[in-house]
Amino acid sequence: MNIPVQILAILNKLQSSGHNAYLVGGCVRDFVMGRIPSDYDICTDATPCRVKAVFSKERVIETGLRHGTVTVITDGIPVEITTFRKDGDYTDHRRPSSIEFVKTIEADIERRDFTINAIAYDGNKITDPFGGEGDIAAGVIRCVGNARRRFGEDALRIMRMFRFAAVLGFDIDPDTLKSAADNKGLLKNIAKERIREEFNKILTSPQPSGVLRIMLDNGIFDEFIPEFTPCGGFVQNNPHHCSTISEHILNAVDYIRPELILRLSAFFHDIGKPRCYGEDDNGIGHFFGHSKISGEMTSKIMKRLRYSRKEITTVRRLVDRHMTLPENQKQMRKLIADLGPDLLMLLLELKAADISALTPSTAQKYGRELAAIKKEIVGIIESMPPVTLGDLAINGKDLLDIGIPQGKKIGETLSYLLERVIDDPQLNNREELLYQCRIKNVALSVTPPA
Ligand code: ATP
Ligand code: MG
Repeated sequence: MNIPVQILAILNKLQSSGHNAYLVGGCVRDFVMGRIPSDYDICTDATPCRVKAVFSKERVIETGLRHGTVTVITDGIPVEITTFRKDGDYTDHRRPSSIEFVKTIEADIERRDFTINAIAYDGNKITDPFGGEGDIAAGVIRCVGNARRRFGEDALRIMRMFRFAAVLGFDIDPDTLKSAADNKGLLKNIAKERIREEFNKILTSPQPSGVLRIMLDNGIFDEFIPEFTPCGGFVQNNPHHCSTISEHILNAVDYIRPELILRLSAFFHDIGKPRCYGEDDNGIGHFFGHSKISGEMTSKIMKRLRYSRKEITTVRRLVDRHMTLPENQKQMRKLIADLGPDLLMLLLELKAADISALTPSTAQKYGRELAAIKKEIVGIIESMPPVTLGDLAINGKDLLDIGIPQGKKIGETLSYLLERVIDDPQLNNREELLYQCRIKNVALSVTPPA
């Protein structure tokens, strides 16, 4: 295991001070899988007071003394150190009413959620009482101990289970999945923000459709986005749509870039369709006005899950507009002015994913049309004359890099460059602008553009 030296140093210091100390949880799981851990957790038989004494020369934050956790910061890296503990009774389905310090790693590991997260490493040997390494090799998420009881203790584990399945690409053990589904109603005890964070991680995983489908089939969305449930299995009766609403949505989510705003907009783009269904005289299904209804529902759902105002506004605008395609240059210019170039590019990505998830022949035809429209829009944007500092091909950091001192001088130089570019838009490229700085004698060393 390629453990960073700072982390090893903490482990060694605790051990040489006469304590048992282990890396534990996600970081050991990630090491076993050959992934780079996002954070490091250490556990030890030293009490928090002892940990503070051992690291008296380092910066120590009392993160959660009641739960036995302190954070030691070495070389700027924060590491959580938690005293071996056992959880008391869970009365509210989210946290233990008390905790008790225990003496051994084996006793600590029993409280952890899944076998893959219940492995410890002391820098020398692995402690794996629940077969976590075997489950990692098999790619299986399985509860430590009795699954039904574990989800009953803390319902957030239901969302964590789906998150690990999505992020690691693992299967869920059937008994673990059934127990999670049977306990899904307990999610109402969990803070919306915590559910949202897990949902975000699921959505931004490489290919979320598989896990989202399992969640839909097991009624998990009933507990936090019940509006998605009616999309499940909803046949669209339309030659452009070979899949149900939910399958179309899930495919669009897979197709789009794994960036949160885009994944959210793909997830919500057709969520209002079940409310808009109608059939024409030929029995063909239509969903008139569904983008607007979906946009309204998106706002409502995202507010409920406490997304930020900026996230809600951005996703809603994308969902609202996802049926809009400009047909001529005038409409394109209007759309650019309306959304701004950046948001418009995201809208085109949403549109591309939406189209890719249609019946293949329709997808091909619309895909070609979209590519042509995109090319034209990009052409218009590139030919638009710069009018604000943000349109310049360089920014303040570029000026700092070439030796212009921080402060007033940077703003003055940028304003000067913008004036020059408004006079002559051809000057708006990086090399030319840096050269302009030199001839104005503000930069120290810049070579002229070729
Ligand atoms: P990540 O890669 O997101 O950091 P992680 O598994 O390390 O994943 P953390 O939230 O950092 O997750 O938690 C560290 C460890 O603490 C977990 O691996 C697990 O052993 C334990 N743990 C965390 N949350 C719970 C929980 N709700 N119930 C039981 N054990 C938990
Ligand atoms: Mg972690």
